[in-house]
Amino acid sequence: MRSLDEVLTQGIRDIPDYPQPGVLFKDITPLLADHTGFTQVVEAMAAFGKDDDGEVVVDKVVGIEARGFILAAPVALALGAGFVPVRKQGKLPAATYAESYALEYGEATIEVHQDAFAPGDRVLVIDDVLATGGTVEACLRLIRRCGADVAGTAVLIELSFLPGRKRLADERVDALVTV
Ligand code: AMP
Repeated sequence: MRSLDEVLTQGIRDIPDYPQPGVLFKDITPLLADHTGFTQVVEAMAAFGKDDDGEVVVDKVVGIEARGFILAAPVALALGAGFVPVRKQGKLPAATYAESYALEYGEATIEVHQDAFAPGDRVLVIDDVLATGGTVEACLRLIRRCGADVAGTAVLIELSFLPGRKRLADERVDALVTV
């Protein structure tokens, strides 16, 4: 079996200047197309929803639109937990809470259904990339507004040259790979 590091090195490719000049885009589509690699990654991310004895300690797994969905849904199934989508504004059909956050240019808003969690649900948040941390920070605010507890956040890739980790200094954030 390949090591997780090998799987990640083979499966994540850098696309320069996408979607705009100066951005080095982390493309995970080769990893998703690699069945054994994807399986290893899902198992590794699911481990963040377990304690040291291997007991599952989360009730719900949140995926942040869109690539977070692809990772969070199989992690939720692996943990025997429910899946909750956090979506871009205007995409969820029932009553929502919304949180906005600053982008380099402008603002973005994400939403969650108000009834997505039971009170006190323990929640693991999943996304593909931690960059400035604005998306995860807004997502954690949404979960807490719903009355649920944030157990932690797990990302595939942390970009250490951006301030995400610092911004989320008070939160538990795990990454499979830091670049
Ligand atoms: P941020 O809010 O700055 O931490 O940005 C995180 C969100 O933007 C994640 O949902 C990522 O999917 C996406 N993202 C940011 N930077 C990159 C990058 N270099 N490559 C791929 N996705 C990125």
